[in-house]
Amino acid sequence: MKFSIKLVLSTMIVLALALGFSGFYFVNYVFETSLDREVGQALDESSILSFAFETAALNVPLKYSVLPDSVVEEIASKLEMGGQGGGRLLRIADEEKNVLYTSSGFTSDEGLLPQTDLHTKSYRVIRVQGGFYVHTCVAINTLNRMLYLETMKDVTGVFTERALGFSLYRKVTVVILLAGIVIMLFIASLLTKPIRLLTKATRKMAAGDYTYRARQVSRDELGQLTGDFNRMANALEENICKLEEEIEAREEFMGAFAHELKTPLTAIIGYADMLRSHKLDEEKSIMSANYIYTEGKRLEAMSFRLLDIIVAKQDEARLADAPVGELFAYLREMFAEKKETDIRFAYEEAVVRMEVNLIKTVLVNLIDNACKASENSGVTAEAVSGGRKGLVEVSGEMVDGGYRIAVRDYGIGIPEEEQAKIVKAFYMVDKSRARSKNGAGLGLALCAEILKIHHSGLQIESKEGEGSCFSFILALSGDMD
Ligand code: ADP
Repeated sequence: MKFSIKLVLSTMIVLALALGFSGFYFVNYVFETSLDREVGQALDESSILSFAFETAALNVPLKYSVLPDSVVEEIASKLEMGGQGGGRLLRIADEEKNVLYTSSGFTSDEGLLPQTDLHTKSYRVIRVQGGFYVHTCVAINTLNRMLYLETMKDVTGVFTERALGFSLYRKVTVVILLAGIVIMLFIASLLTKPIRLLTKATRKMAAGDYTYRARQVSRDELGQLTGDFNRMANALEENICKLEEEIEAREEFMGAFAHELKTPLTAIIGYADMLRSHKLDEEKSIMSANYIYTEGKRLEAMSFRLLDIIVAKQDEARLADAPVGELFAYLREMFAEKKETDIRFAYEEAVVRMEVNLIKTVLVNLIDNACKASENSGVTAEAVSGGRKGLVEVSGEMVDGGYRIAVRDYGIGIPEEEQAKIVKAFYMVDKSRARSKNGAGLGLALCAEILKIHHSGLQIESKEGEGSCFSFILALSGDMD
């Protein structure tokens, strides 16, 4: 059963019980009040009649020492006629409880007589021939006689009113309940709207639509639940996206890896096959062996790089404070022999948090790439000292947030659409050119992994034909505490 229907039904049950009990109590209260009033009037009337009887008995001639039955009947008849509308219902009995006078229409039995004496009035409510009456009985002591005066007062109207009250209340209850059902259906539908929206969102997500979100239509607990659900869905979507990206990257990596293996292996196998199956002259033999050697070297370099990446990924940060001067001195010495490119160093002294050997690897890679990109660059001869082919500037300076190291070249540059891809493993903008320089597209991937350990990343600014600037920021000593 739907939650909204349960809500409506339970409300209706509570409402029906409340209306039933309150109606019963109210109608009964009115009835009992009216009946008490009628009983009071009947008892008052009975007292007045007994007084009138005694008064009339005082006028009996003195010759009677005891009130005779004939006089009792005479007085009773007068009292009966004296009622409003001309007819009282009364009955008179003597001390032996023998009836002396009965009004026509007085139909009650003599059940009250035994309970009545001089000091006790008695009454009861009785049902006679479809009508209701208050039956009273009082004792009269006059002229040496003990008589009983009984009266009957019609109270059928009070009972009829009660029946009418119940019937009216039943109708009102039915109308209220019907109207209540309509109103409660509307309210329940409004109250359960967030649940319906949440259910729809859950189903959509279960069917694979992770972008679907539940609309928040209230600020109450259900609204909060919707908000929490949407936050959970965001986190889920983010994780799923990450997982999908990771799977995609892994697949790309495997594809590229297989491809990069295939090229040198094909050459090695081809030339080795040629060597073993043909009798080649010396020149061809040397050329084949050379191919096998260089391609083998390429494979070796690639496997070392891959190993470096794997090690860098698993490396826990072993960062320590180190002066950048030491780093730049190493680089200056390392590239001192590089004759084709003019490499210039300019840096501010500082102490930064780093793993010096790893940062050296990053910078060697970046400077190497910059040199390769600078060969035959368009930089004017004046800008390049000693007739070299290209210019590379390596700089270090303090910036907001740490120490920035940049490697700038004026070489071929990188097309904008390639810039985001070149940090992926095995990615090369110009494959044949990169391979001819023994590249495998792994250098920048290694740099990115090393910088991750330093809580940093590689920034690339580049324009095709104008050159590139690769930079990263390291934390200054004490910044990471
Ligand atoms: P590789 O081992 O081939 O140099 P990298 O990961 O270091 O691999 O670089 C990936 C590719 O990015 C290179 O093949 C090259 O096309 C491009 N690249 C890297 N640095 C530069 C640069 N400074 N200028 C132009 N292209 C660059």
